[in-house]
Amino acid sequence: MACHIVMLGPPGAGKGTQAKRLAAVRGVPHVSTGDMLREAVQSGTPLGRRVQAVLDSGRLVSDEIVADLVRERLTRADARAGVVLDGFPRTVAQAQALDTLLGNGDALVIVDLAVSAADLIRRLSRRRVCAACGTIVALAGDGSPEVCPQCSGALAQRSDDREEVVRERLAVYERSTAPLVDYYRERESYRTIDGAQSPDAVAGAVADAIDETAAVIGQDR
Ligand code: AMP
Repeated sequence: MACHIVMLGPPGAGKGTQAKRLAAVRGVPHVSTGDMLREAVQSGTPLGRRVQAVLDSGRLVSDEIVADLVRERLTRADARAGVVLDGFPRTVAQAQALDTLLGNGDALVIVDLAVSAADLIRRLSRRRVCAACGTIVALAGDGSPEVCPQCSGALAQRSDDREEVVRERLAVYERSTAPLVDYYRERESYRTIDGAQSPDAVAGAVADAIDETAAVIGQDR
């Protein structure tokens, strides 16, 4: 019986950072639909060519495309015990597709990271990603060299972290993804976490929330 975790929250809330940490701690795959789509764009696959313009605009790719990606990913052997989902679901239709995908008895824990809009814009404008190892870095803004603290690789700004695209992504979040909170709110396995805390404090709160909900829904972790 699998226990899947959904990291919910607006762009810049820290979903990626926390999902990676959590997946490493639990020894399960980190499944980011954004990463999968960016990889498809970078490798120039037919899917990548179809979605590139959508990613660059900050809008959402179709529910069918992402649901297919997740369905395929969840059938792999390493997903049997569960995965940490990052950036999926993003619409109510995707959440319904996920409920359909999950086998009987599979548990779903939903962790919602809440951060104010002003904080999100500030964070996204400082966010950089290591081109070599994928580590997400927040620029200090003090003129420090822009290299990865893990591997000294070059840091790059995601093309959709430019200010005009960020505003569109936040608007898309309010329109399409925020309603998901209503979809999940009544479930025993839904928890909101204050995402404005330090990354370590958020990670601690996320771990506590998962232990608490796992106890409520009868999972051992
Ligand atoms: P992310 O890395 O999660 O911020 O995703 C980057 C971009 O990929 C988004 O702005 C969307 O264009 C696309 N994307 C990622 N996940 C989804 C999803 N679940 N549904 C639709 N589009 C998505």
